[in-house]
Amino acid sequence: MAIRRLCVVLGDQLDLDSALFDDFDPAQDCLWMAEVSSEAQHVPSHKARIAIFLAAMRHFSVVLRQRGWPLEYLRLGEHPHETLSQALNASVSRLAAQQVCCVQPGEWRLCAALRAAAEQAGARWIDYPDRHFLCQPDEFADWARGRKQLRMEHFYHYMRKRYRILLDEQGQPVGGAWNFDARNRGSFARQGPGMLPAPCAFQPDAPTREVLQAVERHFPHHPGSLEAFDWPLTPAQAEQALEDFIEQRLPAFGQYQDAMWSGEPWLYHARLSAALNLKLIHPRRVIEAAVDALQSRQAPIEAVEGFVRQVLGWREFVRGVYWLRMPQFAEQNILAHGQPLPWLYWGGDTDMHCLSECVGQTMSYGYAHHIQRLMVLGNFALLLGVRPEAIHRWFLAVYVDAVEWVELPNVLGMSQYADGGHMVSKPYVASGAYVKRMSNYCQHCRFDPALAVGEKACPFTTLYWDFLDRHQQRFAQHPRTALQWRALSGKQAQLQAIREQAERWRRRLAEGAREPC
Ligand code: FAD
Ligand code: SF4
Repeated sequence: MAIRRLCVVLGDQLDLDSALFDDFDPAQDCLWMAEVSSEAQHVPSHKARIAIFLAAMRHFSVVLRQRGWPLEYLRLGEHPHETLSQALNASVSRLAAQQVCCVQPGEWRLCAALRAAAEQAGARWIDYPDRHFLCQPDEFADWARGRKQLRMEHFYHYMRKRYRILLDEQGQPVGGAWNFDARNRGSFARQGPGMLPAPCAFQPDAPTREVLQAVERHFPHHPGSLEAFDWPLTPAQAEQALEDFIEQRLPAFGQYQDAMWSGEPWLYHARLSAALNLKLIHPRRVIEAAVDALQSRQAPIEAVEGFVRQVLGWREFVRGVYWLRMPQFAEQNILAHGQPLPWLYWGGDTDMHCLSECVGQTMSYGYAHHIQRLMVLGNFALLLGVRPEAIHRWFLAVYVDAVEWVELPNVLGMSQYADGGHMVSKPYVASGAYVKRMSNYCQHCRFDPALAVGEKACPFTTLYWDFLDRHQQRFAQHPRTALQWRALSGKQAQLQAIREQAERWRRRLAEGAREPC
């Protein structure tokens, strides 16, 4: 018997308020979800990244069934299809669906592939806007029209005004400024952060344990560990994680948002990105909770504004840029970087303590906070001259919150400057001195962040000066970067030795470079 609509729910669309359900009719429509191996393998996904998607999908499917809605759910290992397109094509043909409906997928690749699969099977493809965002791609395109460069800060002001968030009755920013960054660059004193509130953890229930076993069975050679897996997987758990963050960590979030400390992966961060990206909790709710904390004097303005800027500003901004610039965005490599990604990123040994900490933590939890991603992992890849596509594949593979719409602009645009500065005004590059200032990593390292040459020279520092030297022509005259590049004149005497040492690092780190599995 033919059905009217096959309604596709992807693994990052676990939202009961989705537009997909607006005119869903259980008498003539059917919901469709599928677990396929290619989604874990098109980049070599961390085991925790695979597990969080599958476990959250299975929990969501229970709720759909409780509503009595017809649902075709294909479980990993219980069907012959490798890709979502193959699985969809087969279901559309078998059910003779007239239409395939889906909320706009979070990846350009998937969007194109699913549409093609549906149409090939003879169905009409209909996609709905994703109401889980506060700015739709066409609104972003309107905002971006006529602007040479897209700057998050301008977009953020636009969004604050549009939703009247943290504005007083005259429409002015609460606290007298749009941004309190000057108060938000703190690092910890030598004795460290002291006792930190442990974030609430969600011990795997029986269905989740089944997923963890399936992941170990199907993807044994994938990177990462499942031992510490405790992420929120349902809307109720996401709400609990939010409340825990607001109470325990938001008050110090602003001050220490850039700080890093050995053995402390979470510090005062929210751990909410995966729940937001799977659509278990709406950004509006998250923003509302932070603003309420300001009103009830639970958290200071610098913490609340800093947090709101991440969710209302950066998160919506990178999504807008993604849909505006794809598919060409993924190909960008303005600095013509071609180094392979060192094996140490996949867990290979390294003496560099900062990288060892950030990669180790990534492999244990599928998590690193923003500054670890930007100023350690991304910074080192940029200084080394890694091919943007290689570092993009790594970031997409290893984080539980990685979906291309958010990962790709953060990596190619913000961290690697691969788009030539359409998204950020200058490359985020720093020497070991920055890592030393913001963390205690250098205290445990055999290298010295102050040195650029010699046996004890910090590779970040050597490669930093080498980067400034290699890209002098592009940046030395630019008004936003000239000051940073001017410092290079003080290094002339060492420059040849720096170049040679940097070249040795590039050769050494290219040895054995490969992707796992
Ligand atoms: P917090 O630090 O507590 O921040 C609160 C929330 O703000 C986050 O949950 C997130 O939803 C949002 N947010 C903060 N910064 C950004 C940003 N730059 N872009 C989008 N949202 C932001 N975030 C992802 O969700 N998925 C990714 O794949 C991803 N890849 C990144 C790659 C690089 C190179 C960089 C520099 C950043 C990346 N980010 C990514 C952004 C950010 O690092 C993570 O959102 C954050 O670390 C998640 O941890 P948290 O929930 O504890 O966030
Ligand atoms: Fe990293 Fe250099 Fe510091 Fe070592 S000395 S932890 S390599 S920044």
